[in-house]
Amino acid sequence: MKIKNMYNKETPLISFEIFPPKKETNIESIYNTIDVLSGLNPDFISVTYGAGGSNDSSKTTKIASIIKNKYNIEALAHLTCITSTKDDIENTLNTFKKNNINNILALRGDLPSNFSKSNKLEYGYASDLIAHIKNNQDFSIGAACYPEGHIDCKSLHTDLLNLRHKVNVGAEFLITQLFFDNEYFYKFKENLQELKITVPVSIGIMPVINKNQVLRITSLCGTTLPDKFKRMINKYENNPEALKEAGIAYATEQIIDLISYGTDGIHLYTMNKPEIAQKILSNISYIRNTNKIS
Ligand code: FAD
Repeated sequence: MKIKNMYNKETPLISFEIFPPKKETNIESIYNTIDVLSGLNPDFISVTYGAGGSNDSSKTTKIASIIKNKYNIEALAHLTCITSTKDDIENTLNTFKKNNINNILALRGDLPSNFSKSNKLEYGYASDLIAHIKNNQDFSIGAACYPEGHIDCKSLHTDLLNLRHKVNVGAEFLITQLFFDNEYFYKFKENLQELKITVPVSIGIMPVINKNQVLRITSLCGTTLPDKFKRMINKYENNPEALKEAGIAYATEQIIDLISYGTDGIHLYTMNKPEIAQKILSNISYIRNTNKIS
């Protein structure tokens, strides 16, 4: 099924993100993760695509294929384009199709460390990839969006105009970058309305379980850390169990507020820790079935 059609449900979609293990030898560990996540009845599970400019799609394809064909859950395969040729992209799209994968999160990818502006690129932006998929193949296409603005972009307004272009050329749904202050999202929704960007938006939520990990990720993507969040990670940084409990509570509180506001979907960045997703979903077992539009 195409993910764009799933947003017609009355309740918000619940989805998870997982990533392929770095070492091929650890690929088995992901099967246990999928097994637990499948029991939580998600609407779809997304699988990330080699970060840092790699364009090896084999692990993403293998894992997305298991989600779709073994567990019968919709798979969303991420696909980046910054270092790819048109032939690479066509080969990957054909492999996705052969594996019954019908949904793609089309991304530019982060610029590789050796990137120079003089590099000749076949795809400069995600919008180039989105247009290519839309014009050549039959997939439901999602794109990334950034409630606080993308870190490379000089202004939030310019980033929003670039987002509108992605939607105009074929993005059918959006998934947000993580954030820890819901007010950014509420302002972002107003901006989308002003620009008449009406496609559904799933909200990316990352439960925090490790201080260094969250500081590394947020420094890369420029997410604001609210004072209460900073107090929490500083207070419990040396007590992993307490930080996990607090991180789950923080994410739960964010999600309850977002569902109360009215949202199309919640997308949990699971960091391949299915037990965290399990706890959060158990915290919102009744709230999850609340109408999407409040
Ligand atoms: P784009 O939409 O192309 O935007 C990149 C920058 O270019 C922005 O600043 C934008 O404002 C600007 N821009 C866009 N169009 C134009 C234009 N025409 N002219 C000038 N400027 C323009 N990375 C991975 O490597 N693998 C993953 O699996 C992955 N999954 C992700 C999932 C989500 C939900 C999110 C939010 C991010 C993910 N990323 C992933 C990270 C992503 O690749 C980076 O954030 C990347 O830097 C931007 O990707 P994009 O698709 O948003 O790019």
